Amino acid sequence: MRTDLPDSRGHFGEFGGAFAPETLMTPLAELAECYDAAKRDPAFQAEFAALLRDYAGRPTLLYSADRLTARLGGAKIYLKREDMLHTGAHKINNALGQMLLAKRMGKRRVIAETGAGQHGTATAAAAAKFGLECVIYMGETDMERQALNVYRMRLMGAEVRPVTAGQRTLKEAVNEAFRDWVANSRTTHYVLGTAYGAHPFPLIVRDFQSVISKESREQILRAEGRLPDHVVACVGGGSNAIGAFFEYLDEPSVALTGVEAGGRAIAPGEHAARMAGGRPGVLQGCMTYILQDAEGQIEGTHSVSAGLDYAAVGPEHAYYWKRGRINFAYATDAAALDAFKLLCREEGILPALESSHALAHAVALAPTMRPDQLLLVNLSGRGDKDVWHAARAMGENIAL
Ligand SMILES: *Cc1c(COP(=O)(O)O)cnc(C)c1O
Repeated sequence: MRTDLPDSRGHFGEFGGAFAPETLMTPLAELAECYDAAKRDPAFQAEFAALLRDYAGRPTLLYSADRLTARLGGAKIYLKREDMLHTGAHKINNALGQMLLAKRMGKRRVIAETGAGQHGTATAAAAAKFGLECVIYMGETDMERQALNVYRMRLMGAEVRPVTAGQRTLKEAVNEAFRDWVANSRTTHYVLGTAYGAHPFPLIVRDFQSVISKESREQILRAEGRLPDHVVACVGGGSNAIGAFFEYLDEPSVALTGVEAGGRAIAPGEHAARMAGGRPGVLQGCMTYILQDAEGQIEGTHSVSAGLDYAAVGPEHAYYWKRGRINFAYATDAAALDAFKLLCREEGILPALESSHALAHAVALAPTMRPDQLLLVNLSGRGDKDVWHAARAMGENIAL
């Protein structure tokens, strides 16, 4: 049964676990214990539900994309509108839940890693709301690419610390955040941003994001009187996807597909499709599928969308993929950009480039399905943040 996973040490079968230095075992254990109690505490769950409703803007809509459906000529397409949440994506669900955990543990300071700045922005907003001190680690390269998000975080009172090690991107920012946590865990909670890392993070983030499928299940039953035939979501670390799939894992009639970044090609350094080009290994806290060379060196990655651009995938996805419960596909940069344009034109909705990967797969899938079948796409975030980048990728030059 899906809720039996992970075991008490964070194992999803052969994947997951807690591969961390000795100094992190104590804060990880403290967090696991706190979460275990919070999970069973109705007052905690009620406070979380109220925050999601009153601050994040839940429930999000389940939207029937009629023009897109007609255009593709196959399954009826529904979009789960996580793009309509406060701060623009599903990441606020997890950030708010983890603020409640920080409060419960008596921490007055939170830290987080961020790549493109989406998780940093959600964490900065949630920390401001809770009156907590907030430090965001971000690679220097990413800070240059995402100057607007850096300023957004600063406006909300967060300190953004540049990380200058290695490639100066997300992987190095995660290392820096863990280093801070080792030194300051008495006062500080580490708000990890996806269903990844050492136990209990993949469990906590999955539970907080599973509100997506709890809602979509009720909504589609109300709208159609039955479950969807297929659910599609993009996969970076895996948090929006596991959240969108969770309530359907025990429903064999519902197909589930995670869509990774196919980048320019499935060749080393050109993509981030871990299931297509990776093998099992350990990176930043857990055993999972990783893009690595023959010597185990982590390969470079590429994607048009920063949020999918990571060399490893959440361990729960690896587990369900190996057992055939979650299918994996990838969408190339070009296919994602086409899907981005299509949704803008057909529905007046600007999807995030990450979400556009899920859409790209849906565009290919829908015509192979019957009109009486239901295809649910998780629209993880909005594309306002991507407009400039998308214009450039499509060869247009917009002045800012
Ligand atoms: C961060 C992000 C993702 C990828 O992260 P997951 O943990 O895999 O969900 C996907 N979509 C959007 C809009 C994001 O901001």
